Amino acid sequence: MRVLVVEDEEPLAEAISRGLVAEGFAVDVAHDGPEGLWRARELGYAAIVLDLLLPGMNGFGVCRALRAEGNWTPILVLTAKSGEYDEAEALDTGADDFLSKPFSFVVLVARLRALVRRGSGPRPATLSAGTLVWDPLTRACWRRGEVVGLTAREQALLECLLRREGGVASKAEILDEVWGPDFPGDPNIVEVYVRYLRRKLDVPFGLHTIETVRTLGYRVVPDAT
Ligand code: CA
Repeated sequence: MRVLVVEDEEPLAEAISRGLVAEGFAVDVAHDGPEGLWRARELGYAAIVLDLLLPGMNGFGVCRALRAEGNWTPILVLTAKSGEYDEAEALDTGADDFLSKPFSFVVLVARLRALVRRGSGPRPATLSAGTLVWDPLTRACWRRGEVVGLTAREQALLECLLRREGGVASKAEILDEVWGPDFPGDPNIVEVYVRYLRRKLDVPFGLHTIETVRTLGYRVVPDAT
């Protein structure tokens, strides 16, 4: 069983690696964020032990990038800073577990084994259209690896469109799903929010992926230019 340890403090990386090998794991070590990301992408591991503060790209960045690509390798984040904020952020980026330094090696092994056992198992699938990815679990949206901040209503509209997988969502269906069946306001609110989404998801990337289908509604065309 091969695991990846991404840790820039070499003595610590070496100690973790030696300990895990003694426990029967095969171990690869990366000493910075980009190398860790590359290895995780290309080589495939049973689990990843990921330090938070790394040169090049921090652990959150690595985690976020992998999850955005649909890579659900179990990740245990090591953090030197302890505090709820970091833990919440680590979980938010799609990490599975976290451990504050200094940690007991026994605890590290136990947590790692638990993660491997759980595996990368069924996850709420991310919804995507070309380079556009929406994660209903973390409520995060990416395009070409860049995080795009959306309001709750924009998120709901995007999810409604992506769930059609290229099919047309009529204005009435959108109103019903995103604003609720009893929405008393102006139905043109849909157009307004489609414009907001385009401004955030398409314009900065030079794309036209949210298409207006005359008289019918809207649909998403992956990476349309
Ligand atoms: Ca570090």
